[in-house]
Amino acid sequence: MKEINAIDFEKEVINGGKVILDFYSTECPPCEALAPKFEAMAELYGEKVKFLKIFRQGNRELATELGVSSSPTLLFFENGKQILDTISGGIKKSEIVERLDKMVSPEEAQAIKANQKPIVSEYDVAILGGGPAGLTAGIYLGQAKIKTVLIDPALPGGYMGITHQVSNYPGFEQPQPGFMLAHYMSEQAKHTGIDFKVAVDITSVDLVKKEIVIDELETIRAKKIIIATGTTPNTMNAPGEKEYKGKGISYCATCDAKYFVDKEVTVIGGGNSAVEEALFITKFASKVTMIHQFDKLTANQTAIEQLQANEKISVMYEHEPRKFEKRGNKMVTFVEDLKTKELKELESDGVFVFIGFKSNVEVLGKHLPDMNNWGYILTDEDMKTSIPDVFAIGDIISKKYRQITTAVADGTIAAITISKEL
Ligand SMILES: Cc1cc2nc3c(=O)[nH]c(=O)nc-3n(C[C@H](O)[C@H](O)[C@H](O)COP(=O)(O)OP(=O)(O)OC[C@H]3O[C@@H](n4cnc5c(N)ncnc54)[C@H](O)[C@@H]3O)c2cc1C
Repeated sequence: MKEINAIDFEKEVINGGKVILDFYSTECPPCEALAPKFEAMAELYGEKVKFLKIFRQGNRELATELGVSSSPTLLFFENGKQILDTISGGIKKSEIVERLDKMVSPEEAQAIKANQKPIVSEYDVAILGGGPAGLTAGIYLGQAKIKTVLIDPALPGGYMGITHQVSNYPGFEQPQPGFMLAHYMSEQAKHTGIDFKVAVDITSVDLVKKEIVIDELETIRAKKIIIATGTTPNTMNAPGEKEYKGKGISYCATCDAKYFVDKEVTVIGGGNSAVEEALFITKFASKVTMIHQFDKLTANQTAIEQLQANEKISVMYEHEPRKFEKRGNKMVTFVEDLKTKELKELESDGVFVFIGFKSNVEVLGKHLPDMNNWGYILTDEDMKTSIPDVFAIGDIISKKYRQITTAVADGTIAAITISKEL
């Protein structure tokens, strides 16, 4: 592996044969996450492909010329020509391997794979999930000098990292961009000395044996496991939904309703959470239009009565969203009338989707702890699950309120309990 400058580009890249080039920056958490994977890949594929690194801030002109606008970015070249897709951000080992395998012959790829040696690491505690719950547990365990690893298939931060503004996390006078809170928390956890294995593929999890395999080759064994894998909002898979998530489409009224004072809002859903959240949104918005697929709301009677008494809310029964678009500052929801099949356009200042969340338990292997009817993990007051030495914290547990503060509290409790036991 070699570090180059823009001056070396012609010699090392254009005339360099097969090349993988890493544009990195300093103070860049995804670059830090990539560095050990890039090094490990260089050891394996280094004889067939040249591994080069280039400092983006010091070589801005070349970066712009090559269309590199974020760090880290990996570019692939063969005989002076750029090949394969560029990758950037939280890059996984599997994404690099997929591309490198295309740069060598199938026989060479097979021989390289045969050369890989499995790794086994031992820890006191493995934390699955680097949202606020997992990061807080990491901070407490690191400060208690307990050998801990935090594992996440994405970069640390969880939902906090993608929340536009967080105004209810104590300690900050002004609302904080969620990514900054995520940055502060993960840097604080790193400074305690715990290991981070992020942007990795989780190959398997065995909660009973306390074994986690990542990137197919590395087995992590721990005395205790903390599950902090959070939830995933149910989505409609309608065109535009993914694109405008966090930019007009929200899944959290507590977090975002306050940005809609005297504005018009569309709410999708008709169950308990949709009705309760719609009622909450009317504290801010001037008008709420709910879109519900059935001819009746499926919430509890009290909530329905409150909704019916609220003049700001109207419901479009037997309608379903089909597509989302942005028109200037407005969101346009294309809704289908399920009876007439007519497609209507509904313009509003923002869309809230409440069609439920699902807990991320399917990633936890075949031995699952006891759960409630909705798939959320049951814990005692120390955050212990029904499996010995397995704890669960944050949004994935059975609880009433899912917020950053409550996730942080769960992480604290689990970590202090573990510190006393180890
Ligand atoms: C859009 C939105 C906005 C919000 N805004 C606010 C707000 O303003 N204020 C507030 O207090 N709360 C807010 N919330 C709620 C808050 O973000 C959550 O309650 C909190 O993030 C839960 O923390 P967590 O660590 O339990 O889970 P998460 O934040 O969901 O983190 C879970 C982590 O686990 C990782 N993971 C998933 N699968 C695996 C696996 N197999 N192995 C390892 N790791 C895995 C994920 O990549 C993720 O990093 C918001 C929620 C949403 C959806």
